[in-house]
Amino acid sequence: MLSLSLQRHFGSWDLDCSLVWRGEGICGLFGPSGSGKSTLLRAIAGLDRRAGDRLTWRGAELGPLPPERRAIGLVFQDARLFSHLTVRGNLLLAAGKGRGRWPMEALAERLGFRELLDKPAPALSGGQRQRVALARALLAEPTLLLLDEPFSALDRRSRLHLIHELQQLQRESDLPMLYVTHAMEEVSMLCDELILIEEGRALAQGGPDALFARLDLPLAARDDGGVILCATLKHWCPEEQMAELDVDGQSLFVTMPLPPDAPGPVRIKVAARDVVIATRPIEGSSLSNCLTTRLREEREGLPGQSLLQLGLGQQILLARITRRSSLRLALEGGQELFAYIKAVSLLGEA
Ligand code: ADP
Ligand code: MG
Repeated sequence: MLSLSLQRHFGSWDLDCSLVWRGEGICGLFGPSGSGKSTLLRAIAGLDRRAGDRLTWRGAELGPLPPERRAIGLVFQDARLFSHLTVRGNLLLAAGKGRGRWPMEALAERLGFRELLDKPAPALSGGQRQRVALARALLAEPTLLLLDEPFSALDRRSRLHLIHELQQLQRESDLPMLYVTHAMEEVSMLCDELILIEEGRALAQGGPDALFARLDLPLAARDDGGVILCATLKHWCPEEQMAELDVDGQSLFVTMPLPPDAPGPVRIKVAARDVVIATRPIEGSSLSNCLTTRLREEREGLPGQSLLQLGLGQQILLARITRRSSLRLALEGGQELFAYIKAVSLLGEA
């Protein structure tokens, strides 16, 4: 378990943050730029120690310990490798004393930089340096790994690949990770738990599925706001390259170029901006995914916008429409609404 209570005052900006995390799996620290996420990680890593900090990890008081005695790994947004060493040299310097969970070569292979092991560190691109920095942190065998927007400078394809690999490595090793990001997509794919940071405070904590569905948090009004749903993959149609999903008894079709490994539970993300609302079924349109829902709650989003929370069996869907449309449709709580889904992303197996 990680427990912390910290105060910082930087000019007119204050951080006053208390939080407790069970210290298992991957926990996302999520919040806008400047909300204090890096400040929290630096304090946990011991790079910024102040009298009055209360900080314990697995029952041990961290306060007095310098960074090198905390056994906490940190991967920054910009990898800081030793420039006079090769990649291998950098990794050997960090590698723990034990046998290690992963041999260096195997880890380099998985993270896609094996052919770079004997290159001088300065010859690497930004993305390659991040891969090496992650391997270096893992080889040091920390008891907790802190990741500060580690893949934000990478292109989307590499980022998704590394996120997937990071998740696999976490599952194999059980190494607890705190992952800082401001990308909702990364949280949906990676995090078991989420702590929202806002203006130096922990605003909310819980499972991403539950937090994403709340209208009282700033998440719902984000441009990429939306929900994660549990569904069951029923079958795949090779002619149409489509998979049929079951969401609480209703069908949803998603494009899937290749057959799935096996039918079973999957998680999907539906962005609120990709949901079209109708009070009657729409005819003669290209929209083909329609879920019957019930309006639970409506709130103002950004100016001119309205956010709708819709009940879908035991689950919740969010829709973002204009205030104008909301008034025109004269929506009422409890009303049955047809939710047409324009886009679905498959996050993976549940
Ligand atoms: P985030 O990582 O969420 O983007 P940071 O923790 O980096 O946010 O920064 C939060 C705020 O604290 C910012 O306004 C930043 O300028 C300020 N800040 C962070 N560290 C220092 C410091 N050492 N001295 C002065 N201001 C700082
Ligand atoms: Mg930061």
